[in-house]
Amino acid sequence: MNWPGIIAHYRRHLPVDDNTQIVTLQEGDTPLIPVPRFVNAIGGRFQLHIKLEALNPTGSFKDRGMTMAVTAAKTRGAKILVCASTGNTSASAAAYAARAGLTAAVVLPHGKIAMGKLAQALIYGARIVPVDGNFDDALNVVRALGDQPGVEIVNSINPFRIEGQKTAAFEICDTLGRAPDRHYIPVGNAGNITAYWQGFKEYHAAGTIRTLPQIFGWQAAGAAPIVENRVIEHPETVATAIRIGNPASWRQAGAARDESGGVIGSVSDGEILRAYQLIAASEGIFVEPASAAALAGVIKTQEQGGIPADSLLTATLTGHGLKDPDTAISVSDQLIKPVPPTLSAVLQAIQG
Ligand SMILES: *Cc1c(COP(=O)(O)O)cnc(C)c1O
Repeated sequence: MNWPGIIAHYRRHLPVDDNTQIVTLQEGDTPLIPVPRFVNAIGGRFQLHIKLEALNPTGSFKDRGMTMAVTAAKTRGAKILVCASTGNTSASAAAYAARAGLTAAVVLPHGKIAMGKLAQALIYGARIVPVDGNFDDALNVVRALGDQPGVEIVNSINPFRIEGQKTAAFEICDTLGRAPDRHYIPVGNAGNITAYWQGFKEYHAAGTIRTLPQIFGWQAAGAAPIVENRVIEHPETVATAIRIGNPASWRQAGAARDESGGVIGSVSDGEILRAYQLIAASEGIFVEPASAAALAGVIKTQEQGGIPADSLLTATLTGHGLKDPDTAISVSDQLIKPVPPTLSAVLQAIQG
């Protein structure tokens, strides 16, 4: 059967009815991949399966929320979708706007445009509007735009995004036939951790799963407001998708941690990049640094006393590594320089 996208597949769990005109790129149904070589490499005896959200249509999990947000916007008669984001949200909004025949506008601080991800927004035909100000100024303009007729905000504050994103938790349980013991996930604006916890709880209430996982969320050490319990004025990390100093869903993330008996911890950029390299080299899975924060969290909890040998863990790998090729090249220590075109020289170069 051709997978119809998350809304059609999970429609009885989502705020749609039979007349809803669904805007979809057939997102979701991403693979849940066991990674035994990664687990071995860190000395673990547990099972870890990664939910490869990089394989959504625009290369990140944002598509799950965007299909729902854009479907709702279109139902309400919106003509313009706006967001303030230099990253995966703008890429996803631009793609779903194109799919819906709507206009997407991305408002950004001037000079802070990350060209790698913005390439997607541009090719999908979004209007890019740089403003003279910082990210908060851009977000304030977006909020004001939301009051204009026909304009819909698709930033993290849009509640439909959480609804769509919770379907990843459903998929994990449907694939495993149960809930994992623990779920690991990176935390930025904290919408996704909120969505997963909501999804697990809904399946539990419906009797689809008998147990609930503990939720283990991970922030970057230079952008860890929830861990430090204070707003971070100038968040800094190599993991740009989680460089957030004042998360929109802060309270809900704390609730997911506390209700599940889990943890929200932080990992340094060094730990993130180590996990980033290890999952690629040990398993052939290339994700962006923010995604690797979840795996750095697995390594950290393993090193800090171990993860029970028979436990079943899942981790969300949120975005594709190709979005940020500069980081991949910068962490490589290979010298790429030409050698003579002879068998002996090339063999010698291969053997290092
Ligand atoms: C948006 C994003 C995150 C953070 O998700 P939140 O819902 O903001 O916590 C993590 N990784 C990637 C790749 C993202 O695009």
